[in-house]
Amino acid sequence: MDYVSTRGEAPARRFSQILLEGLAPDGGLYVPGTFPQVKLPELRNKAYPELALAILSRFMDDVPGLEALVRATYTARVFGSGDVTPLRTLEPGLHLLGLSNGPTLAFKDIALQLLGGLFQQKLEAENLSLNILGATSGDTGSAAEYAMRGKPRIQVFMLSPHKRMSAFQRAQMFSLQDANVHNLAVEGTFDDCQDMVKAVNADAAFKARQRIGAVNSINWARVAAQVVYYFKGYFAATQNDSQQVSFAVPSGNFGNIYAGHVARRMGLPVRHLILASNENDVLHEFFRTGRYRVRRPVKETSSPSMDISKASNFERYVFELVGGDGARLRELWRQLERDGEFDLSAFSREVRASGFVSGKSTHADRLETIRKIYSSYNTIIDPHTADGVKVGLEHREPLVPLVCLETALPVKFAATIREALGREPQLPAELAGLEKLPQRFKVIPKDVAMLKRIIEAA
Ligand SMILES: *Cc1c(COP(=O)(O)O)cnc(C)c1O
Repeated sequence: MDYVSTRGEAPARRFSQILLEGLAPDGGLYVPGTFPQVKLPELRNKAYPELALAILSRFMDDVPGLEALVRATYTARVFGSGDVTPLRTLEPGLHLLGLSNGPTLAFKDIALQLLGGLFQQKLEAENLSLNILGATSGDTGSAAEYAMRGKPRIQVFMLSPHKRMSAFQRAQMFSLQDANVHNLAVEGTFDDCQDMVKAVNADAAFKARQRIGAVNSINWARVAAQVVYYFKGYFAATQNDSQQVSFAVPSGNFGNIYAGHVARRMGLPVRHLILASNENDVLHEFFRTGRYRVRRPVKETSSPSMDISKASNFERYVFELVGGDGARLRELWRQLERDGEFDLSAFSREVRASGFVSGKSTHADRLETIRKIYSSYNTIIDPHTADGVKVGLEHREPLVPLVCLETALPVKFAATIREALGREPQLPAELAGLEKLPQRFKVIPKDVAMLKRIIEAA
């Protein structure tokens, strides 16, 4: 399988060559040259690891030992059950796909647990080491740290905004005692953290010398790993391969729902990909009007992992809309840099044909949806999942099963659950006492030179 850059000015690459990289050398994102096609009957009865292997081996066709890695990753020990992503039926035709049973209780574990193994194996084979530098507002950082902890060839430097994560998220990250995990609490906002990461990456000499890598959501391996559970959810919600299913996806950086789009392009009978935005509704506006407008500043909401000003994976989708024309895409992104927006309303037919629909959910909607799902089905959902359920139900159609992606467990966002229900969310038994463990982190000012010194000294 060859991967090509969305900007059309970088050489095609194999999977192993793009694994450790974020952007292509021309500033674009790598996408598969063609989407592999699958035969559903051959996949329907497979257990999660077999299904994952059947799909991932198409995208990661030059990874030695992929089977062993996949089998070691998607286990009941790591994900709580052999199903890995269990489907819970709330009522006939309405389901929750549980994606948050990994170590950090959010869907990002599904891809990052595999990525940890892929990185380690590649670094081992080439006798190299890697410094992973990232910024997090919560879920990405902990998922990355739990995936990379104890890996001898990897150091993780994770910037987070000091005192702005939830108590549970802080405890999850800062209680890690592994020597290769470096938690840096920045006196500033999440945007400040991201600016520091950008500044370090802009220093090409430092970046090369220190072997700075990333695990952000544009990494193709993460997208590929997420494709698997769309198939798993489809098979669990249907009896035969001629049925269509719609998926509701709480969205921020467009990584999760883009994986659903890839599944559809591979032949999965997806009717609608229902995109849910929160108050930061850049993507909903695009699917409603064809206009893509970056927002600054980002609004802080009670579904914080969807708080984005622009959606990094969106470029991959737009590349397809414009027929894979790299020059056209470069022009659009130049316009985005210059004006903060572009208009693709001329492509409304292509957008409709791609199966996307969208909606928006606010804090009040979140609370109401959490209450409604609790009182109707005795199930507590987290605020992000609630955004997806709210918008999903607006687009629900008779006879089309609706699968709502559960992207985090409610215990990660206890304050909003208390506000909605007046009670505490359940804490998984193995995490009792997490918030009382000693915490290990360093508070640093918003100072790029200091950050570089910390990386050099580690
Ligand atoms: C990251 C995240 C999202 C958004 O996913 P994208 O791939 O960025 O669209 C939604 N919900 C939760 C809980 C998350 O952690």
